[in-house]
Amino acid sequence: MTSREAYNWLISHHTETTYLASTEALLAWDQRTQIPRAGHAHRAKQLAALAKLLHQRATNPRIGECLAQVEGTPLDTDPYSVEVANSREWRRAYERATRIPERLAVGLAEAAAEGEPAWAEARPRGDWKAFKPYLARLLSLRKEYAQMQEFEGEAYDALLEDYEPQQTTALLEPIFSELRAALVDLLRRIKEAPGKPRVELLRGDFPKVRQEAMIREVIARLGYDFEGGRLDSTAHPFEISIGPGDVRITTRYDESFFNPAFFGTIHESGHAMYEQGLPAKYWGTPAGESASLGIHESQSRMWENMVARSLGFWQYFYPRAYEFFPAFADSDPSAFVFAVNAVKPSLIRVEADEVTYNLHIMVRFELELALFRGELSLDDLPAAWDEKYRDYLGVSADGVANGVMQDIHWAGGAFGYFPTYSLGNLYAAQLYKAAELELGALEPQFASGDFAPLLGWLRRNIHAQGRRYQPGELVRVVTGEELNPAYLIGYLRRKYSQLYSL
Ligand code: ZN
Repeated sequence: MTSREAYNWLISHHTETTYLASTEALLAWDQRTQIPRAGHAHRAKQLAALAKLLHQRATNPRIGECLAQVEGTPLDTDPYSVEVANSREWRRAYERATRIPERLAVGLAEAAAEGEPAWAEARPRGDWKAFKPYLARLLSLRKEYAQMQEFEGEAYDALLEDYEPQQTTALLEPIFSELRAALVDLLRRIKEAPGKPRVELLRGDFPKVRQEAMIREVIARLGYDFEGGRLDSTAHPFEISIGPGDVRITTRYDESFFNPAFFGTIHESGHAMYEQGLPAKYWGTPAGESASLGIHESQSRMWENMVARSLGFWQYFYPRAYEFFPAFADSDPSAFVFAVNAVKPSLIRVEADEVTYNLHIMVRFELELALFRGELSLDDLPAAWDEKYRDYLGVSADGVANGVMQDIHWAGGAFGYFPTYSLGNLYAAQLYKAAELELGALEPQFASGDFAPLLGWLRRNIHAQGRRYQPGELVRVVTGEELNPAYLIGYLRRKYSQLYSL
C-alpha cells in the first residue's frame, strides 16, 4: 500500500463515518423538535445502535495502520496542508478513542444517560442529595478517563483537550485571573453608576408570529442562508449541521420578553453561518470541520453581542423594530441599546449580561479544577459554589436548583467544557479587532445595514480554514498574536463606560 492509497482509504473511511454521524444529527434534530411523545423509546434505540457503529468505526485498527503509512512521507510535509491537518486530527481522534477500554466508554455513556434524567428530576426539587451519587459516578469515571489520556501538567488538561485542542490549565489560569480582576472592578463601577437602563421597554406583549417574522428578516440580512437552513421552535435552542446545504437552528419564544428569542436566535445563527461557510469540498474530513468549540462560540457571541447589541446595529434595525412592536416607538436606538445591555448580576449563567457572563464561567472552571486536583469533595461543592458567587458576583444563592445544579453539563459528565464559553468571548474580541484593522470601523457599516464585509472577513479568515489550524494557532495566524485578554477587557470597558457614563 502506498502512502497515497493509505490516505485515500482514510478519506473514504472517515467520509462514510461522517455520513453516519450526520444521520445521527438528523435523528437528534427530529428528537428535539418534531417527534411524537410515544416515539422516544424507539429513537433512543436507533441512536444507541448508531453510536455503537460509530465507536467501532472510530477504533478500527486499519486507521492506525494507514496513518503509519502516511505519517513522515511527502504527503506529510507542509504543516498547513489539508493532508497534514487531516492526518493530525485523525491521529488525535484515533489515539483518544483507542486509549479508552470499551468498559469505560460504555460506562461513561450509561452514567451520562442516567445522570441527565436524574438531574432533570432532582433539580426542580432542589434535591442535591438525590443527584449527588450520579455526579460522584460521573466524576470518578471522568477521572479514570483523564488518567488514560496523555497530559503533561494536570489531569484536567486531558478533558480540556477534548473540547479545545492544545488548551491547558497553565495557559488559562493567568488569562482568567486578569479577566476576573478587570470584570470585578468594572462590575463594581457599574453598580455605583447613577444612570440606569429602562429595561421595562423589553417587557410587554411580543406575539410569537411577530417575533418570528422580525427574527427571520434580521438573520437573513446578517447572512444566514435560509436556502440551506431552517428555523424551528424547541425547548432548548441549538444549532445543528446535517451536512452541506442543511444547517438548522431552533429558538424558543417568550411572548412577554423581547430578549430571549431575538438574541438567542442571532447567537445560533452565528454558529450556523460558521457551518455554512466551512469548505464543502472537504466535508467528511477534519479539513471541512470547525476548528474547535471555543472558535465556534466566538462566532455566535460576536454576532449576538458585538454586532446585535451595538448602537450601529439598532440605528439600522430600530425603525423596523417599532413597525413590528409599536410600543418601541416611545423610545430611541440609544435608550434601547442601553436596555439590551443592562448589567445585572444574577445566579443564572444563561441569562447573564456580557460583563458578568465570564464570572459565571470562572466559578465553574475553578470548582472543576479543584475537584480534579482532589482539593474539593462533592460534599463541600454546594457551599464552595455559593461562596464564589458571593465573592465574584455579589449574589447569594436561593438553593441548589439555581446554584450548583443549574447546568446540565456535569450531569452528562462534560467536565472541562465550560472554559470554551469564555474562550469564545476572548477570541471574538480579538478577531473583531483584527477585522476592524482591515475593514475600518464596523459599527458605521452596521448602521447602513452593511453586514457583508464582516461576514466576508470571517468567511475568509475563519470559516474557509476548516480545521487546518489548531484554535490557538488560528488566532495567532489571523490576528498576529497569542490569545490576549486585553482585547475583551478593552472592548467591555469602552462599551460599558459609554453606556453607564462611567
Ligand atoms: Zn453557543
